Amino acid sequence: MGSRPHSGESRPPLVRIAGVNKYFGDTQVLHDVSLDIAAGEVVVVIGPSGSGKSTLCRCVNRLETISSGTITIDGVPLPAEGRALARLRADAGMVFQSFNLFAHLTILGNITLGPVRVRGLSRAEAEDRGLRLLARVGLADKADAYPAQLSGGQQQRVAIARALAMDPKVLLFDEPTSALDPEMIQEVLDVLVGLAAEGMTMIIVTHEMGFARQAADRVVFMDDGRIVEIATAADFFASPQTERAVDFLSRIL
Ligand code: ADP
Ligand code: MG
Repeated sequence: MGSRPHSGESRPPLVRIAGVNKYFGDTQVLHDVSLDIAAGEVVVVIGPSGSGKSTLCRCVNRLETISSGTITIDGVPLPAEGRALARLRADAGMVFQSFNLFAHLTILGNITLGPVRVRGLSRAEAEDRGLRLLARVGLADKADAYPAQLSGGQQQRVAIARALAMDPKVLLFDEPTSALDPEMIQEVLDVLVGLAAEGMTMIIVTHEMGFARQAADRVVFMDDGRIVEIATAADFFASPQTERAVDFLSRIL
């Protein structure tokens, strides 16, 4: 998928992470992180546990504030708070390891909540759109079911549909298959491969290296709060440049 067109040189990146530092108390967990992501690009983020992958995603989505640096989406810096934040947060949809569906709402109810409240869609518009998105993730027949009636893989596909319903400019995935039984992993990865083929801009934290090889335009390797390597997926897997990446791959592959 490296052949998909990326933004031309005159266009600013869709996501620009520049010189970001993040502290929790006295502990620095992101060190001068910079990364530009073009519209339509798929970036897979890998690295050992505790290297800052989740924190980076959460900063892009403004679930965490950054200590210094800038993060812009489509040229707009993320504000610290307020109504504008809710709208801009919706520009960066996030899918978590634990699907986080609302247990008391139907599947369709989960998908329409955000579009109605944050995007200002009418219920009818939101439901129409929600049903189309459920069909897209292969769950058209589950609209009236409740989350507990679905398998983990199905729930995660609903979570992806819910994120898409907000019409995000970029989708962030934080280990979307890590909580799934092995037989359910592929059905979720297949949805991601489909989104990639349609040109969705995505940042995906995952340990699924086969998927990374197949779907990533670029691989970002993090260690100890720093981006240690950024390379095309082909280059990264064929010839990682650092000792730490070689060591990480030897343990995970
Ligand atoms: P990863 O996702 O790569 O496993 P994280 O981003 O979750 O890494 O964590 C990076 C570092 O930040 C770890 O040392 C972790 O303990 C620390 N950390 C994460 N969240 C918090 C928090 N809310 N408060 C304090 N420390 C945190
Ligand atoms: Mg994490």
